Amino acid sequence: MTVPATSLLSGLNGRLPELRTLYEDLHAHPELSFQEVRTAGIVAARLREQGWDVTEGVGATGVVGVLTAGDGPVVLLRADMDALPVKEETGLPYASTRTAVDAAGDEVPVMHACGHDMHVTWLLGATALLAANRHAWRGTVVAVFQPAEEIGGAAAVIDDGFLERFPRADVCLGQHVAPLPAGFVGTRPGPVMAASDSLRVRLTGRGGHGSMPEATVDPVVMAAAIVMRLQTVVSREVGSGQQAVVTVGSIHGGTKENIIPDTAELTINIRSTVPAVRERVLDAVQRIIRAEAVASGAPEEPEITHFNAFPATVNEPQATAAVRAALTEALGEEHVLTLPHTLPASEDFGTFGTALRAPSVFWYVGGTDPAAYKAVDHDALLENGIPAGIPGNHSPLFAPAVDPTVEVGVTSLLAAAAQWLDAGAEPAR
Ligand code: ZN
Ligand code: ZN
Repeated sequence: MTVPATSLLSGLNGRLPELRTLYEDLHAHPELSFQEVRTAGIVAARLREQGWDVTEGVGATGVVGVLTAGDGPVVLLRADMDALPVKEETGLPYASTRTAVDAAGDEVPVMHACGHDMHVTWLLGATALLAANRHAWRGTVVAVFQPAEEIGGAAAVIDDGFLERFPRADVCLGQHVAPLPAGFVGTRPGPVMAASDSLRVRLTGRGGHGSMPEATVDPVVMAAAIVMRLQTVVSREVGSGQQAVVTVGSIHGGTKENIIPDTAELTINIRSTVPAVRERVLDAVQRIIRAEAVASGAPEEPEITHFNAFPATVNEPQATAAVRAALTEALGEEHVLTLPHTLPASEDFGTFGTALRAPSVFWYVGGTDPAAYKAVDHDALLENGIPAGIPGNHSPLFAPAVDPTVEVGVTSLLAAAAQWLDAGAEPAR
């Protein structure tokens, strides 16, 4: 028999003031990807206080907590910890004024513009209650506070021996704060967020004087031809029922109008929702780059580097139905939305379920003041996306409402976990 969610949630109300304070503190102290040292320190100290087995430095700055309450299923709960190089403009009393030195050596402003501070708060609230109510349930919970989600830090956690070092989860659960109305949650079975692949392409030509192109191989023209031809990948090679996006996000070459440079560089981002389409698009993009280089008479093959590769986040249908039932019971049917399609944004959460070969479920928890949505009907909202004027994730104005978002997130996470954990010796109080 599974544990009733109410048994895990016992004591939540009394902990909310402290969780709000924690959230505001994390928000005021954001850290860039793989620099989450302060955040990881807070996480590790709290987990130890609560009685969890704690391993630090997993995948550089990640923290993994394990709590076992007898034999039973193993549930993985995941939060991410990193912030973004964004200058906060929310005007909140706990707004970030921090800067940091990024991986390129530049000083940049830092802000929790994706809400990962909320995710850490939720998971620490859940771990506190799991520990306090540990006689009410049986099984093992693995709480993963991963680094660097924005640049695919889940892979660093897996590559650090995660599968061998920690109990094998039967299910992976994760949630993200989103610009849905606060108090609402949303999910869908199947692909929920797209796969993302980035390519850095270095084209080699032969430079020379701008007045004598016949003596050169112009990498600027080569790059331009590639950019245009890449527009045919989605329109001519992807079926009309499939989703894919190919974006050339940067193009650099040359220094001056009358010099033909030796090289040019492109960066490309690809989004897709199913593995076969992902493979086809990646192949087509690389084929076109190589072929355009040949067509230009390039003296060398292009150098193509694949980076920031995240698989699609795919919600296993049966597990998603269980989570949906749990969310409905905990929050009320009217607060549980079904997303009509895969979001083109990406997440590296799928890395855990893929590596563990375990079902995973990912859902969104609304964080926007519901008053902002007064005139919006929810079906239109889901079909057409977030209305203009409501700041979304990565915006300098992204400011989740602390109430009730902290409470709803802890409730959702534990209600979902309760679908897998067994009932313990002590029933609900
Ligand atoms: Zn983000
Ligand atoms: Zn995020």
